Parts: sequence; structure tokens; C-alpha cells
Amino acid sequence: MLSRILIFLLALTASASAQIPSDWTQPFPPHRVIANVYYVGSKDLASYLITTPQGDILINSSLVSSPDLIKKSVEQLGFKFSDVKILLISHAHYDHCAGSARIKQMTHAKYMVMDADVPVVEDGGKSDFQYGKSADMHFPPTKVDRILHDGDEVRLGGVVLVAHKTPGHTKGCTTWTLTVVDKGKSYNVVIVGSPNVNPGYKLVNNKTYPQIAQDYQQTFRVLNALPCDVFLGAHGGYYDMQAKYARLKDSAENPFIDPAGYKAYVADREQAFLAELHKQENGSK
Ligand SMILES: [Zn+2]
Repeated sequence: MLSRILIFLLALTASASAQIPSDWTQPFPPHRVIANVYYVGSKDLASYLITTPQGDILINSSLVSSPDLIKKSVEQLGFKFSDVKILLISHAHYDHCAGSARIKQMTHAKYMVMDADVPVVEDGGKSDFQYGKSADMHFPPTKVDRILHDGDEVRLGGVVLVAHKTPGHTKGCTTWTLTVVDKGKSYNVVIVGSPNVNPGYKLVNNKTYPQIAQDYQQTFRVLNALPCDVFLGAHGGYYDMQAKYARLKDSAENPFIDPAGYKAYVADREQAFLAELHKQENGSK
């Protein structure tokens, strides 16, 4: 009897931990990316702190379990978590927004979300076009304080972040841009929301998201047109965060300044989208 319980418990832990890659929960050294932009996420789930004289902006609350890791990273850099005044996300998936309810409680930050992601954020993922019925993808429903629309600006303490709607991956997926000045030079920072077509996504005849293919096409138009010097994204893996961080100490140039890497990434993701669309169009004929 005891061994049967043990086997059951082991199976339970195995299935629970299989959902979440270890890179998503393992700490990573927090670091300055450029100017007032800092990395405060885990090994792969990116969170960014943008500091201003009037309080700070946090992008991505990540998993339900992430707020403590993010808070620790913010404090390791010498900042106060209670200075976070605005909370933003890359998109309404549980690996980027599940910690939002807790971070709002901890900091009293105002939560600002792109219009088409608002219902999903507020119902805890139940209206997600792909994962709505997957309970393991649900997260604590979180009240949104300001609904953003494509091109809206989020302003605090002289910092201006622009919300670019880059839909497809989620209906309100958001790519954030800002301009920073570092050592007297100005740089365009792009934080890519996600251009990825997840396994199982239907690009053709999608009943819960009929315009999904057109939305991805719009996303690639937007991403191709954005000026980018500093390439960042919702996952560190998008921009080789770990390899660039390793070069940070020794290289004279800031490794996060990577316009060519941005262009190559967007081109690669666009090709992957077009290949999948082609495959599905031919398969459905
Ligand atoms: Zn996602």
C-alpha cells in the first residue's frame, strides 16, 4: 500500500515538473543590459526592470512561483521592489503573466495590458484561443488597470515605452520598444513579444482565432520595420542571452547591441511561420 502511494506521488511530481523546463525557474545573475534597462528574470524567462527617477517599470511577472526570484534580482541590483509602479507583459501566457496577481499585491503597481490580451489575463487563461481548456496553463486571474491599444505609450519618469501589437502567438501579444541613451549615444531597444507558432496552432480554419494567419503576417511587417539596436525578448533564448551575458565583462562593445542578430532572428521566425502556413494550407486542401 505504502509503495503504491509512493509510486503515485512520484508520478504526480514527475508530471507536474515536466510542464515547466528547469531553465524557467533557475536563477540567473541579474544584470544591466544597457542604460536604465536591467535583466531580472530566470535563466530563460525574461523579466526586465526599467528604472526611472519616479519609480520603475517591470516587464513580465512570469510563473506563479517567479515573483520571489524577480524581487531578489531587483534587490541584488540595489533597487527596491516597492518602487515598481507599472507592470507590463509580453503576452498572456502563464510563463509571462502568471505572477502578475502576486506582484500587484507586493508592489501595488498598475497593470497595463494590450486590449486583445485583457480578457485572457482577467479570466486566468480560460478564454485563450488555444489553451483555454488546458487547466495546467491557467493562472490567477488578474485585474487590468489600463487597457492598451496598438501604438500606445507608457510613460514614467521621462521613460517612454511604446506598445506595438504583434498578434498571432496571442491575440494581444506585445512588442515593447524604447529609446535609451548610453555613454552619449542613443539606442533603439526592442523587446520581442513572440513571433513563434506553437505546436498545435492552427493557422488555417481556426474557429477560435479566424484571422490568426493575417495577424502573424502583421507581426512580421511590424518586426521587420522596427529600428533595433538592442535586441531583447520574452525568453532569453530569443537573443542568446546567456552567451551575450558571458561576453559582457570582457568585450569592449556591449554584446546586447546586436542589430544583425535581431534581423536574423526575425527572418528565421518569419521563414518558420511561412513554412508552417504552407504545410497547413496544403494539408487542408
Ligand atoms: Zn507564449
